[in-house]
Amino acid sequence: MINISGLTKHFGGTPVLDGIDLQIADGERMVVIGPSGTGKSTLLRCLNFLDVPQAGQITVGDVTVDAAKARKADVLALRQRTAMVFQNYALFANKTAKQNIMEALVTVQKRPKAEAEERALSVLAETGLADKADSYPAALSGGQQQRVGIGRAMALGAELMLFDEPTSALDPEWVGEVLDLMRAVAERKQTMLIVTHEMQFAREIADRVIFMDGGKIVESGPPSQIFSSPQDARLQKFLKRVE
Ligand code: ATP
Ligand code: MG
Repeated sequence: MINISGLTKHFGGTPVLDGIDLQIADGERMVVIGPSGTGKSTLLRCLNFLDVPQAGQITVGDVTVDAAKARKADVLALRQRTAMVFQNYALFANKTAKQNIMEALVTVQKRPKAEAEERALSVLAETGLADKADSYPAALSGGQQQRVGIGRAMALGAELMLFDEPTSALDPEWVGEVLDLMRAVAERKQTMLIVTHEMQFAREIADRVIFMDGGKIVESGPPSQIFSSPQDARLQKFLKRVE
């Protein structure tokens, strides 16, 4: 279970997350939509303390962190229960696909190298990239690089997977294979929090959609409700623009 309450983040004087309350059930697929600059990435980044929130509580499984008095050990524990997929893949350019996946398994999870390598190879097989294990990112297509990025997150076995617009940096031709891999991840009942502009995909994959605007959750519900009978005028306007 993921529980977020009163999550607050401001940069300087500007509030970006204005007291976010959100619960995500185990295995639930939650999609976040909303206009640019509305705090979607900041929400994801606060959940693993890549951005440090000023107030609020975050629970992921057996770890609860109170932002106002977060201890280093709690933050580390929280990070170990989450895995993030970034818009720009964020792969190490000087490491092969296999080494990229092994990195956190060895340095963060302290697994023996041989075990990390075995896990990386098995994840590469699942992502359809077994033959690219020894390729460097520069030799991979955008879609392949992002599949490595997703594989790296899968390998961690984290309770919560965070996806921040995983397809928006891709050429259109590579979007489909990345969405297919995300569907495969979803089928394993992985808890997922996904920021995306792919509305069709959101409709299809989400158990619940939240619409954010101005640092708040303005509306939330099943995709049928959000996309077919949006209530709030801001959501109606947003959907007219993107669909
Ligand atoms: P997009 O759809 O464009 O990705 P977003 O909803 O993900 O937008 P955020 O990236 O979370 O939006 O940014 C929310 C607001 O916080 C923006 O106004 C942004 O300029 C501001 N912001 C984000 N990171 C920082 C930072 N490190 N320092 C100052 N302001 C920041
Ligand atoms: Mg963003």
